[in-house]
Amino acid sequence: MNYGEMTSLLKQRGIEISNETCVKFDQYLHLLVEWNEKFNLTSITSEGEVIEKHFYDCLLASDPTLMVNQNVADLGSGAGFPGLVWAIAYPTCQFTLIDATKKKCSFLEEVAKALNLDNVKVINGRIEQLPPELRESFDIVTARAVAELRILLELGTPLLKIGGTFIAMKGSQGEEELQKATHACRVLGLGEAKILHSELPNSDGKRINLYLPKIKKTEKRYPRNYADIKKKPL
Ligand code: SAH
Repeated sequence: MNYGEMTSLLKQRGIEISNETCVKFDQYLHLLVEWNEKFNLTSITSEGEVIEKHFYDCLLASDPTLMVNQNVADLGSGAGFPGLVWAIAYPTCQFTLIDATKKKCSFLEEVAKALNLDNVKVINGRIEQLPPELRESFDIVTARAVAELRILLELGTPLLKIGGTFIAMKGSQGEEELQKATHACRVLGLGEAKILHSELPNSDGKRINLYLPKIKKTEKRYPRNYADIKKKPL
């Protein structure tokens, strides 16, 4: 996929990406390829694949009507997916990118600096150990490829404000994971999910993105420590 194909496919979904924004994506792509020679940030490094499997995939999950003046957290952002991609596309929103791996956080900071993104903050730490002032402070919490949905929702829902949305980017197992998470949603204070099916045009990547509204406060005892969350998911 190239930038022209990406923008015209996104347009069909109501997502408008300007040429100036694509220039920034291209700077990001080159930094990603450069850093990847030293550190293993992603297994996807060919230009066309980065555009399709990282940029296009992340933008597809974004809802442009929602992405105005929002405070967004990206859990386990890795090399910036979807958080940094969204930060480039949606400059009126503030982004907090969280990752436990230091070198990934250094990369995120480097890209934010090189692209003059003043709407990005990076936290090198574990999601379940964030400072209490971040609790119920985000309008949107998102994640791609971090954990099974039940685990992910326990980690992230405490960070969401009531009225906010959890956007979970999932693959072909998205609906099965959602079914298994019925109890977790109820316990954590999430309402009924909206489900968006899509596909990546040049790969067999079936994408299922879930949009879960937070309707009730999450009890203080969540998130539990990581060992307990993993051993006994909600
Ligand atoms: N979202 C990115 C990266 C996925 S890899 C993408 O889609 O490409 C998963 C990332 O989550 C890793 O970088 C890992 O360090 C981070 N991670 C996993 N569990 C975490 C936790 N509990 N707290 C913070 N980061 C975590």
